[in-house]
Amino acid sequence: MSFCRACVIGHPVAHSRSPLIHRHWLAEHKIDGDYVREDVPPEKIGSFLASFATSGYVGANVTVPHKEAAFRAADRTEPVAVALKAVNTLWLEQGRLAGTNTDVYGFLAHLDETLPGWDKRTGIAVVLGAGGAARAVVYGLIDRGVGRVLVVNRTRSRAETLAAEFGKRIAPADFADLPQHLKEADLLVNATSLGMTGQPPLDIDLACLKTGAAVYDIVYVPLETPLLASARARGHPVVDGLGMLLHQAVPGFERWFGIRPKVTTVLRSRVAADLGSKEHAR
Ligand code: NAP
Repeated sequence: MSFCRACVIGHPVAHSRSPLIHRHWLAEHKIDGDYVREDVPPEKIGSFLASFATSGYVGANVTVPHKEAAFRAADRTEPVAVALKAVNTLWLEQGRLAGTNTDVYGFLAHLDETLPGWDKRTGIAVVLGAGGAARAVVYGLIDRGVGRVLVVNRTRSRAETLAAEFGKRIAPADFADLPQHLKEADLLVNATSLGMTGQPPLDIDLACLKTGAAVYDIVYVPLETPLLASARARGHPVVDGLGMLLHQAVPGFERWFGIRPKVTTVLRSRVAADLGSKEHAR
């Protein structure tokens, strides 16, 4: 295989850990290639993607704020990307741009790995948030047969839109009614940006949460969010956001470099250390 190069496209993109992840796998598999950051401002994303086939890259990850632009620019998109109207992974097929969304895969793969059989035990899930990441979370939960998904969002209209798009098993709900919903939930997912370093805290009380319910926080900076710490202290099974980040990278690497890489504890520790987070015993 000749030298191959992929990139992550975003704005800003300096914070992205994707180069660390993909370079780890390139070195592990002794592949002659590289993975770099491309900071592309919104006014340039259209022309950047239009000329992607001649850029020298074999493919790309796409992050905030360009996932919707990548969806529009792709000549072919997989069904999951069509459902989410967002693309986070691009590759070339005979010079044409193809795209998918691997956030759903990443979300589910880490949940399966951490709590095997969770879907058999989950009748009701509560999802906090209705932004881009929440769309992937809700899609994944529905896809895996969760019977009812309550979407709690500050801006109720976004939760209503999500429910209208993804079907009858989704219901919009309000933060004010959260204690009642938590009594019935088998799984609570935080897909807001609350609790992330630099953002306001996620101020919810887990006292009402059903015994044994699992808590998944997709925020990964810090790795152990206050939500996870509180859930852990109450004896709930917890799932952190770093695994989702690592697993969502797997399908892209396989597309571009021809080898399906593994999410190992070595990789996890490297990225956690880079994030400045101490690993909690799992
Ligand atoms: P987004 O599209 O901007 O959505 C942000 C969500 O957070 C919205 O639901 C928003 O509610 C809510 N929110 C923000 N500030 C709030 C506040 N002060 N009070 C109440 N709600 C607030 O962002 P996103 O792309 O979905 O990302 C959300 C989080 O997921 C980020 O922390 C991101 O890092 C993380 N994430 C993690 C992974 C992973 O691999 N682990 C992947 C993707 C994203 P409104 O609709 O009312 O504004």
